[in-house]
Amino acid sequence: MNTINIAIDGPAGAGKSTIAKMVSAEMGYIYVDTGAMYRAVALYITENNISDENIESALKNAEVSLRFKDGVQRVYLGDRDVSELIRTPEISMAASRTSAIPAVRARLFDLQQKLARENNIIMDGRDIGTVVLPNADVKIFLTASAEERANRRYKELSEKPGCPSYEEILRDINERDYQDMHRETAPLRQAEDAVLVDTTELTLEQSAAKITEIIKERI
Ligand code: C5P
Repeated sequence: MNTINIAIDGPAGAGKSTIAKMVSAEMGYIYVDTGAMYRAVALYITENNISDENIESALKNAEVSLRFKDGVQRVYLGDRDVSELIRTPEISMAASRTSAIPAVRARLFDLQQKLARENNIIMDGRDIGTVVLPNADVKIFLTASAEERANRRYKELSEKPGCPSYEEILRDINERDYQDMHRETAPLRQAEDAVLVDTTELTLEQSAAKITEIIKERI
C-alpha cells in the first residue's frame, strides 16, 4: 500500500502535537508523536538508574510501543501505559539528553519508519523531514519565538500545583532547543523542502487551518 506521510518538525512547545492532532482528526490520518517514544526511553533509563555507558546494552530491555485507542496514541513500556508519566519537566530534559545517543535513535527510527509504511500518518518530532521520512509527501517546520512558546507552556501549566515560573520554563525551552539543534546525530533543523510556519502571531485554530491548507494543496 502506498501510504501518505506528513512530517512536522520544530522546536519544543511550538504546538506541534496539538496542531497535528487537530489536523489528523480532520484528515482521518493517524497521529504519531515521536517525542513520546524518546520520553518513554528516558523514563526507562531514569527509573532503572542506567548510566550512560550501559544505555546501549540496556536498550534491548526497553520495550517501547505505541498503541492507538480510538485514534489516540498511547505509549507503552512493556505492558505499562506510561503516557502520563512521561509528561514531566524532568523527563523532557532527560529525553533531550538521551535522544542524542545514536543507539537510541537507531532503535526508534525503525519503529517510526514501520508505522509510516503501514499507515497514512502525520508524524511530529525533530528529524522526521530530514532523517526518518526524507520522502514525506508534505514537510512542515513549525516554529514560534521562544518567549511565546514559554508563555503558552506557562499558561498550560499554571493551573497545576507546583508550576515552574515563566523564567524556568523559558530557560528549559532554550536549553532543550540548544541540545536538540547541536547534537551530532539527526539535529533539529528545517529540511530544505519543508514549508516554514511561524505561529508566534497565530491562534491554534489559525495554525491548524494554515497547515491543513498547505497539506491539501500538496496531496
Ligand atoms: O516533542 P517532545 O518535546 O515530546 O520531545 C522530547 C525530546 O525528544 C526532544 O527534546 C528531543 O530531544 C527528542 N526528540 C528527538 N527526535 C524526535 C522527537 C523528539 O530527538 N523525532
